[in-house]
Amino acid sequence: MQLSFYQYELQLKDTFNLSSSSRNSTPAVMTEITHEGVTGYGEAAMPPYLGENYDTVLRFLSKVNLSQFSDPFLLEDILLYIDEIDSGNFAAKASLDIALHDLVGKVIGLPLYKILGLNKIKTPYSSFTIGIDTPEIIKQKISNASSFKILKIKLGSENDKKIIETIRQITDVPICVDVNQGWKNKVFALEMINYLADKNVLFVEQPLPKEQLDDAKWLKNKSPIQIIADEAVQTTSDIFKIKDSYHGINIKLMKCGGLRTAYEMILFAKKMGLKVMIGCMTETSCAVSAAAQLSPLCDWADLDGNLLINNDLYDGMKIIDGKITLNNFAGIGIKKLKT
Ligand code: MG
Repeated sequence: MQLSFYQYELQLKDTFNLSSSSRNSTPAVMTEITHEGVTGYGEAAMPPYLGENYDTVLRFLSKVNLSQFSDPFLLEDILLYIDEIDSGNFAAKASLDIALHDLVGKVIGLPLYKILGLNKIKTPYSSFTIGIDTPEIIKQKISNASSFKILKIKLGSENDKKIIETIRQITDVPICVDVNQGWKNKVFALEMINYLADKNVLFVEQPLPKEQLDDAKWLKNKSPIQIIADEAVQTTSDIFKIKDSYHGINIKLMKCGGLRTAYEMILFAKKMGLKVMIGCMTETSCAVSAAAQLSPLCDWADLDGNLLINNDLYDGMKIIDGKITLNNFAGIGIKKLKT
């Protein structure tokens, strides 16, 4: 098998504001793994908070020698070899894991969800993310997202209640809230959650800093709506640590290292009685469509990353009337738009 890769800067349609940062583009590295004329595609997207960048991903990928493997179906062996090259590097590893699953699906001639035995009818609705912004821009963004049945609102600034009031003036669509660790105090967080519970908010994601597990446990036991871990859970072993502090987890391929770990995390979290959301970073349709393959197993999805960029490289999963809609393309469900 042959690996190739290149840098690709994802251009955001709008400046993306979170409680702690804002940005106009996201670095990504695209991978391609070819075996006997068939190519699988993968992607590493690198939002700043995960600590990976062009240098770390390119350095990691340059150490990977796939020419030693002649059978792409030896996924366990290949992914173990990749994992042991170095610790961390989750996005870089995800890019290889995604490309390998795409390749294997294409060789078999079936979409990954079918290979895994999943029912495409059971895909969840995806939320559409509205970043922290002025009331005028928020109104504009919501009117552009009218086909979505759930909106995801970023909170964690001092204007939180104003943002919610602005949204509730224009729509009563259910919302979920992502605080990105922006509330620092459990009493304040509970007060905010009690306020949100009256505003048709389905759940609150990462209300407190990820280290504050005791505070999150206190909050979980008092909160009238579910609280979900995102930054507090990266990979499978974290699930055990956070299971008493949150009602559910947000799984992302770039955080956990790819489809194989994500699948394991979904099954483990469900066995622990946790709800599961599948999410994404700012990504092309490559990584988003890969994540969508697992979405029939999930309670919620937030797979809108490809809709936030204006230089997508692939045709892939579509959100139709708010629902994740899987196509029948073999592999992770994408076709490359340009070469
Ligand atoms: Mg989040």
